[in-house]
Amino acid sequence: MVIDFHVHCFPEEIAGRAVTALAEKSNIPPRSDGTVAGIRASMKKAGIDKSVMLSIATKPQQTQKITQWAQSVQDEGIIAFGSIHPDCADWKDEIKRICEADLKGIKFHPEYQDFYVDDPKLFPIYEKAVEMGLIIMFHAGADLGFQPPVHCPPPRLRKVVKAFPGAKIVAAHMGGYDSWDDVERYLAGEQLYIDTSFSLHKMSREQFDRIVGVHGFERLLFATDSPWKDQSEEIELLKSLNLPDDVLQAISGGNAAKLLGLTC
Ligand SMILES: [Zn+2]
Repeated sequence: MVIDFHVHCFPEEIAGRAVTALAEKSNIPPRSDGTVAGIRASMKKAGIDKSVMLSIATKPQQTQKITQWAQSVQDEGIIAFGSIHPDCADWKDEIKRICEADLKGIKFHPEYQDFYVDDPKLFPIYEKAVEMGLIIMFHAGADLGFQPPVHCPPPRLRKVVKAFPGAKIVAAHMGGYDSWDDVERYLAGEQLYIDTSFSLHKMSREQFDRIVGVHGFERLLFATDSPWKDQSEEIELLKSLNLPDDVLQAISGGNAAKLLGLTC
């Protein structure tokens, strides 16, 4: 089973505008149209069985709408996560609704949501999510749409990982986009998963091997960040690394299936 652990889609009526605006902000050309239909077509072409769809509440009042939309599009192929805005007053109830909607995790984006990943005000939210068995996923490292400071750099993320032993934590972009020396220093070998989204093209092969060597391939998740990367090209890029078969299978879907509790 091939699982892409990191894709973005938007409701049909706003996808065009949202993708255009985000592409301008980050200066990254989109590789699909950002709709659910678009990702399904892309998955079919790339031979991807399931995609984890991540949405971000950039305002507190979007939190509940995202839960509802995520639930409405989730099915066999689309595994949708919810999102909690840190200033959402009824975050406790929303976490319950996320669980009732059968969503498997929550995506946080410290740049878009304007908080530092280790800000103590977030800890009760993390704690509740972990207690409810949800995966907590972070955008990590630089975001091409934002100027520094980076809100989820490896040393800060390490503090969160240490504070929640046993939690299912995923850091996107190989643990921290463009901060990979610090990923080696602060995160490799720690109790978290890292995804490969929007990183394989930029990271050197030597650094990839070092990080995977220390961290363990069992906690690496294939991911693309579609529409900002093309799913077919990214799966080919992963295959081109000529990893041993068992390692490739684990990274491209086996690890994700276990983390998501899927039986395959
Ligand atoms: Zn992303």
